[in-house]
Parts: sequence; C-alpha cells; structure tokens
Amino acid sequence: MSTQIDSLLHEDRRFPPSEEFAAQAIASAELYERASSDRLAFWSDQSRELLTWSKPFTKTLDWSNPPFATWFDDGELNVAYNCLDRHVEAGNGDRVALHWEGEPGDTRTITYAELTAEVKRAANLFTSLGVEAGDRVAIYLPMIPEAIVSMLAVARIGAVHSVVFGGFSADSLRSRIDDAEAKLVITADGGYRKGKVSALKPAVDAALASRGELPEQATVDHVLVVRRGENEVDWTAGRDLWWHEAIADAEPEHEAQPFPAEQPLFILYTSGTTGKPKGILHTSGGYLTQTAFTHKNVFDLHPETDVYWCTADIGWITGHSYVTYGPLANGATQVLYEGTPDAPHPGRWWEIIEKYGVSIFYTAPTAIRSFMKLGRKIPKQFDLSSLRLLGSVGEPINPEAWMWYRKIIGNKVAPIVDTWWQTETGAIMVSALPGVTSTKPGSAQVPIPGIAIDVVDDAGDAVGAGGGGLLVVTEPWPSMLRGIWGDPERFKETYWEKFWNVEGGPFYFAGDGARLDSDRDVWLLGRVDDVMNVSGHRLSTAEIESALVANEMVAESAVVGAADETTGQAVVAFVIIKESHLEQASGLADITGALRSWVGEQIGPIARPREVYLVNELPKTRSGKIMRRLLRDVAEGREVGDTTTLADTTVMQIITDKMVKST
Ligand code: ATP
Ligand code: MG
Repeated sequence: MSTQIDSLLHEDRRFPPSEEFAAQAIASAELYERASSDRLAFWSDQSRELLTWSKPFTKTLDWSNPPFATWFDDGELNVAYNCLDRHVEAGNGDRVALHWEGEPGDTRTITYAELTAEVKRAANLFTSLGVEAGDRVAIYLPMIPEAIVSMLAVARIGAVHSVVFGGFSADSLRSRIDDAEAKLVITADGGYRKGKVSALKPAVDAALASRGELPEQATVDHVLVVRRGENEVDWTAGRDLWWHEAIADAEPEHEAQPFPAEQPLFILYTSGTTGKPKGILHTSGGYLTQTAFTHKNVFDLHPETDVYWCTADIGWITGHSYVTYGPLANGATQVLYEGTPDAPHPGRWWEIIEKYGVSIFYTAPTAIRSFMKLGRKIPKQFDLSSLRLLGSVGEPINPEAWMWYRKIIGNKVAPIVDTWWQTETGAIMVSALPGVTSTKPGSAQVPIPGIAIDVVDDAGDAVGAGGGGLLVVTEPWPSMLRGIWGDPERFKETYWEKFWNVEGGPFYFAGDGARLDSDRDVWLLGRVDDVMNVSGHRLSTAEIESALVANEMVAESAVVGAADETTGQAVVAFVIIKESHLEQASGLADITGALRSWVGEQIGPIARPREVYLVNELPKTRSGKIMRRLLRDVAEGREVGDTTTLADTTVMQIITDKMVKST
C-alpha cells in the first residue's frame, strides 16, 4: 500500500508509573471505561462536573451537518466567569493565579480575586469602547498579565479574540487584523526580549497606517496600549489610549452574562509550518470542557498544592489552552514568564522552577534539544526537585531527548506526557495519563478518554497494530475547530475531503503521519508532506532524526527527502553538534561519514543519508517547529520559499552558504 510508512525505529524502554504517583493520581483507568461505554454521556458528565453552566444543556453533540459540529448547543455559560468569579465565590480568591516574572527580574503576584477584579474593569472598558458580543479584538502583547486579562475580558463580554504573536511583523499583524475585521487592538509600548526592550507599538502603527490606504476597510476604532517597555512611542490622538489610564477610569463591577455554548471564543492562526497560516475558529462550551478535562487529568493537577508552568507564548494554541483557559478554569496556580530562556543567563528557566517550586512543567522538544546542546551542567546548578510531572508538545520528541528530559530535568522520577494535538483540535487528543499509562520514550501513546483516533491508509482503511499511515480523528470531539474564519470551503477541503466517503466517516485528516506499535500505541512520524520516498520505501523524518539524536555527539537534526536520480528521493540530514562534543567532532576525519554510517547501523541501510550537513541552527517557525520545506528547497538547489513565519530569516542564508562550501 502506497501510504504505508515503513517503520525503522525500535524502542523497548518502558516506564510504569510509580506506586507513589499512582496512589495520588487524578486520572484513573476507569475514565477509559466510562468513555468507551458511552462517549457522549462521558463528555456531558465531564462538562457538568468541570464547568458551571448558567443554563444547563440538554443536548450533547449535533453532527447532523458534518463537518460542522455543535456541542452542548442549548446550554449557556460565561467562559470568564468559569475561569475567575466562581473560584472567588468558592472561597479561593486568595489563591495565587499568576506568579508573573518579567525578563529583567521584576515580578507580580496576582490572586484569583485580583485577576477577577482586573478582568471586570477591562470588560467595562472594552464595552465603553464600543466592543459588543461577536466583535473581534486583536491582541498583540508580550507575555505580561494584561495579555491574559485581555483575553478573559474579551471572552467575558462575548467578543472574539485574535491573539497575534508579539514577534510577528507589521505585515502579519495587518493581514490578521484585516482577516478578522478587528474593532479594537490591544498592544504594549514594548516588552523585554533577550535583555532589551523590543518595541511593539510601531508594528501596530504601521499595520494600521498601511490599511489607511483603503479607508473603507478600516475597522479599528481604538488602540489600547499597555505601558511595559517605557520606550518612546508615537501617538494617534483620539485612537490611542493608555491602558493604565483607561482602566483606572473603568467601572469596577461587572456581572458576567451567559452566552450560548457555541458563541465564538477566538480565532487563532496555525504556526505556518507547512504553508499559509489558517484562521482557526473555536467556540466556548466544548472548548472549555476539553481544555479543562485534559489540563486536570493529563497534568495531574492538584490545584491546592501544584505550581504549574507552561512555557508557551499566548500567541500559540498551547498558550490559549494551557496557559489561559485550561489552568484558570481549573483554579491552578501558575508561572507566567515574559522573556526568552537564555536571558540574562542560560539557566533562567531552571532558576524560575527553583524560585517558585514549579511542580508541573510543560514545554516543547525544541527547547529540550537546545538545552541538550548546551549540556547538563546548566540545569544541574539548580534545585529542580519540586518537579513531579513533565509535558512535551509541538513536535515528535526523539527518544533520546525524552530520556534526557526525564533524567536531567525530571530527576529520573517525573513521568513525561507527550501530548499530540493541533491548533485545530483545540486541546490534547493523544497522551499518556500519568499514574495510569506506562510511558514509552518517543511515543505519544493513546487517545485520551472520549477521543477516537486511528491510523489509516489512503483509502481510509485502518492499518492496524504494527502499521504506519495517516493519523485521523474518527469522531467529532468537544474542542474541535468549528471552521476556518470566513472560509467554510477551505475548512472542508483541508481537513475533511480526503476521508469524506469512507466507511465510518467522515474522518478528520490531521496531516500527520503516524504508526501503531504492537500495543496500538501511537508514534508520530512527522508531517505527511515531509514523508520521503526512497527506492519505493516511505520513510519518516521523525525516525531518522531520532536515530541521529541518539548519537552522543548530536543535539538536534532535521531530515528531508531530496530528488535523486537513482532512488527517487534521497535522505539529506542537517545536524547540530552538542557544544560538549564540538572538539571531538572536529577531530574526526570524516564526521559526516561517521554519522551516515551511524544511521545505517541504527535503523538500516535504506535510511542512510546521502548527505549530512553540520549546521549551527535549523530554520524554525516562531513557535519553534522545524520548517523542513525550506531545507528541502536548499537540498534540491531551489530558491528558498516563503519564510514569513520563520523566527530568524538569516538562518537560511547561513545554511545555504555552508552547503556550498562543503560540496
Ligand atoms: P500549519 O498547519 O500552518 O503548517 P502547524 O501545523 O505547525 O502549522 P500547530 O497547530 O501549531 O501548527 O501545530 C500542530 C502540529 O504540531 C501537529 O499537526 C503535529 O505535526 C505537531 N505536533 C504537535 N504536538 C506533537 C507531538 N506531541 N508529537 C508529534 N507532533 C506534534
Ligand atoms: Mg498544522
């Protein structure tokens, strides 16, 4: 079968939960039983248990008009009330919601009572600026408490936020403001990044000025500006308002009105790893149900005692679901950090964990691999003993990176949950449940209770245990995207057309390759677009990259298929050497030859790269994901394609120069 992906990686390490962890775990095997006996009843029970509904729902799922689903349709709730007021009413107003840490070291501690009060004022302020339920608000802020306050205040009045990552240019911001026809933009003068103030307001000014050329399209009435960087900014009288002044004038009391379960909550653009970002639409009741459920069970959250930290920027879906909505709906205490991991020193994250006694830590493989590159000496200088659970998201985590995470950061005891999901899925879909699942390095493992996924071939037939193919979601789920903003056709085409007419369908096509091992655990193999075809064998990028990372000299790698006269495609690898091994590597006469042989030995001659290039950096999106399509361009000698979502545009030039030198 042509879509079968050959599996080469063998990984036999297993880590059953410790008795101690299992005894206190929130999740239990019973969740799977309840979910499989009646999936819809399971989700409606979860929703009633985890959320406060102003008007109880009587219907769970409506799938009569696929691919457009509704969940809990006749119910009403207020998302912000669920994240704030109800915790205060339950007597937990004094609990810390946010331990905020600015990059220069300034801090703010904000309790649930304080956060609620701030959101009430902001809700009144937005209303006074003319924002009504259903209107769109663009948020372009650094990682400061006002970012979360803004999201929740928008939600509180039934409006729709579109958070744009603070690192994006005026152009990206403008296209997102236009696409959503935002009425209000919330920004800051600047924020701290890598030890200095990085201005934000100029990008907003530029984005809005360039729109002025088409005044009939201009929708933005006001720009609210948080003072953070204290940098000089231009000011447009009548349009621009200082946040601190406006909020001081706003009424303090605000009663949250209920909105329908399907009230749009936000639009968020995908990372753009594979192409042009898509404006993904999420709604309220189903989204909050699944984010709260997964945040509680996957992260084993004990809200009275845990200190949780998710390092994602709120500009990404992980920041929406696992910084703002999931943790606050569950009344968690969390750390929010403004800056970069290496400012002012490379141990900054570990210092923060020690300082706040972080017990649950959620980050991305790209971060773990960059710490591996620098070596264990840095984390070893800090007391990380408070950590009891680790999470990973964003890319496949290579087994060796997983082992390093467990050993060096998790003190050899903290369970690791590798969570597979997407902007489109809204919440975690595949993950181990800590205390229940025996974990396997490199595997995302099992669908969470109440979620139905499978791995299928091109015809939509299940490949079964031991097979590789395409990951699909076979049943609608509460936090599923409700569409692409303004483009229902693209929604159908991108995600549903491929498996529309299959038995048991339609299936949601995730765009990722995956295989099932003999226990039916899921292993993500990378993007379907990136799968290589070498002499008729379909090979996964993730497995060959993992083999390379398993070499003690290698910190990170990216593999692509480049056109080849004899084999159709050939494997080309880009490799970053660990700092501690740079000397050893440069001492080897033929390091690239050694790495090619290594892959051949580890996973078989078919996977042996035709070329290995040593590089210092890899092209990554702003959210840290490797952009293999750009590497494919250079490997095939083409001009490099669209780099607008690239974090550092100089990287491609450096890589291209290097390749010219070494060939
Ligand atoms: P675009 O869709 O615009 O190309 P993107 O897919 O990078 O952007 P996101 O929604 O941020 O945007 O990323 C979701 C993707 O990240 C998944 O489809 C998958 O490829 C990858 N991913 C996320 N978590 C995991 C994980 N735990 N294991 C493997 N891959 C993961
Ligand atoms: Mg995607």
